Amino acid sequence: MFDKILIANRGEIALRVIRAAREMGIATVAVHSTADSDAMHVRMADESVCIGPAPGPQSYLSMPAIISACEITGAQAIHPGYGFLSENAEFVQIVEDHGITFIGPTAEHIRIMGDKITAKDTMKELGVPCVPGSDGGVPDLESAKRIGEEIGYPVIIKATAGGGGRGMKVAQTAAEMESAFMTARAEGKAAFGNDEVYIEKYLTTPRHIEIQVFGDGEGNAVHLGERDCSLQRRHQKVFEEAPGPCITPEERAQIGKVCADAVAKINYIGAGTIEFLYENGEFYFIEMNTRLQVEHPVTEGIFGVDLVREQILVAAGEPMSFGQDDLEINGHAIEVRINAEKLPNFAPCPGKITAYHAPGGLGVRMDSALYNGYSIPPYYDSLIGKLIVHGRDRPEALARLNRALGELIVDGVDTTVPLFHALLQEPDIHSGDYNIHWLEHWLAENMA
Ligand code: ADP
Repeated sequence: MFDKILIANRGEIALRVIRAAREMGIATVAVHSTADSDAMHVRMADESVCIGPAPGPQSYLSMPAIISACEITGAQAIHPGYGFLSENAEFVQIVEDHGITFIGPTAEHIRIMGDKITAKDTMKELGVPCVPGSDGGVPDLESAKRIGEEIGYPVIIKATAGGGGRGMKVAQTAAEMESAFMTARAEGKAAFGNDEVYIEKYLTTPRHIEIQVFGDGEGNAVHLGERDCSLQRRHQKVFEEAPGPCITPEERAQIGKVCADAVAKINYIGAGTIEFLYENGEFYFIEMNTRLQVEHPVTEGIFGVDLVREQILVAAGEPMSFGQDDLEINGHAIEVRINAEKLPNFAPCPGKITAYHAPGGLGVRMDSALYNGYSIPPYYDSLIGKLIVHGRDRPEALARLNRALGELIVDGVDTTVPLFHALLQEPDIHSGDYNIHWLEHWLAENMA
């Protein structure tokens, strides 16, 4: 096992990794930008290294700075968290070339899944059901129009290098194809330096269901059921739960096995998430994330396992601590993402926290790097906390969420907490009757 690991991230996810490491008796190194000298992850780690100025590209995304921090401190492995360099195949290669272990999948697997066209081809070959669409990239507008006619409108045009909801455009009709195609290409080029796009049938009322998988890199893999992340704004998740309110045990076992078998076959190592759209009882693969997800705590809640500990274990060459038969669902878990944003427009709202009080009690977990007097810097993601609740069933989890939100105090900045108070008044949320468009419609009606 490692003696010391470095966490190439900040905020709540850096704390999350520090906590797992500490329970395993592993020392931790935090890295930080000059804007984060007072950040909680720096205070909580055993050691810290300043790796550059505030902007991400000069600090949290700077590969030479992070490798140097590892060499200076003697850290044997790097946990990337999510975002930043977590899905950067080149970084993984460089880390390994320096004799440091990357806590995550291989560069090859990251590369395959990071390109959505290659990912889809690979998954199709491995027997995973996919959304009907173009076979591979679409070279020009003429082909796009022909494919649109073939699969039938509406369609969605996606940048193969896209992510975080960017580089995707819907064409409702043939008349909208030209502008959607051009915009998706331009966004792909501008944001990811790659203008290749592909086309999928646009599903009109799907749910977003994702399967958590975990592999040991030696051909063994398990699934940890699904998370329903259908409540989204601009293709970004805001509320996640497990198990999915509409998924039957038979469906879970079936799609779970397909996913576990697929990643076992490619000797996948570590945590991964296979994302699907789910409509009329059918699953359609959209992409695979080769890292820990923001919403992983809901899975931890219902299975009672520590996914970060498990990531560290397999990265160190040890066997996984559970097999498929050890994994049994216990109750229901819900996560809400608390962002420093001002409603109704969700404008980022950095600033000084004048009062912070985290909720507690049975079944409540608050993952956050906030503290009284902390100043949220304006340079990074607006996620400031994740409130996760667990109950014996869904109604109990919802009641607990309501109670915990009532206890939470975050003063000094605007947050998305009022959104969750309002959502908990909605019958559809209590019945679990929502799809990926529900929240956008609701926001248009209630927050315009
Ligand atoms: P990203 O990598 O940017 O997160 P994804 O491919 O995971 O992109 O898609 C994000 C979201 O976009 C999905 O959760 C869903 O809401 C919507 N979406 C993607 N593909 C389709 C599709 N074929 N039909 C309908 N909605 C889609």
